[in-house]
Amino acid sequence: MTDLLDLLRRDAPRFRRIAVLTGAGMSAESGIPTFRGTGGFWRDYDPQWLFSPEALAEEPVLIWTFYDELRTRIATAAPNAGHVALAALAAHREVRIATQNIDGLHGRAGSTGVHELHGTLWTLRCPECGAVLRPDVVFYSEALPADAWHAAATAMTACDLVLVVGTSGVVYPAAALPALAVRSGAVVAEINPDATALTPQMHAVLRASAAEALPEIAALLAGP
Ligand code: NAD
Repeated sequence: MTDLLDLLRRDAPRFRRIAVLTGAGMSAESGIPTFRGTGGFWRDYDPQWLFSPEALAEEPVLIWTFYDELRTRIATAAPNAGHVALAALAAHREVRIATQNIDGLHGRAGSTGVHELHGTLWTLRCPECGAVLRPDVVFYSEALPADAWHAAATAMTACDLVLVVGTSGVVYPAAALPALAVRSGAVVAEINPDATALTPQMHAVLRASAAEALPEIAALLAGP
């Protein structure tokens, strides 16, 4: 497997259009726990249950408490060096970010046009008149917002390089995006301290954290 930094030292000028797929690991160094990495999540609840329509229907007070705590934690967190590097790279390359994260940290770092595949914690929606108000996030088993999905799929099929950052690659359909890019001829690279379900599809990897790796990657890509 090619080392991503070696690849970029050699070939960075040919990568003009960069698509980025991010997951919970992208925000780990901002102090927001991932689901499947080390660090645990919320008390002893199964994350798949916490993000389900059934949980909201069965235990609305508990679920609202969970989202309130998550919002407070994220509101006091800051984008990390990885978010900042991706935002700065947009001055040098076309950068499109599709994120599975609901924390809004790419936007707070200055990235624009971020496709939020799993919605956002920062708005609420009423599922139907009279029903319990709910966070505007995508629960497990629900369809993704069509506009974010189409924009993300377009970004993946119209780019030269895809950076897959901090996702275990097990939540579909988001995890299908790198395969779309491979089929379209893009180079696909993983940035993650650990191997994931997506590793076998990768052309290059970098075993490092998002905040360590992305400033170096962006610096290599920011050249001519
Ligand atoms: P996941 O929790 O399943 O996997 C996290 C991945 O990140 C793992 O592969 C781990 O090795 C990697 N990782 C851990 N620390 C890292 C770091 N510092 N740098 C780079 N990689 C690191 O996450 P997922 O694949 O995104 O799937 C879980 C679902 O829950 C997604 O929808 C996700 O967005 C959501 N979620 C969101 C947040 C958030 O908004 N910040 C937090 C937790 C979960």
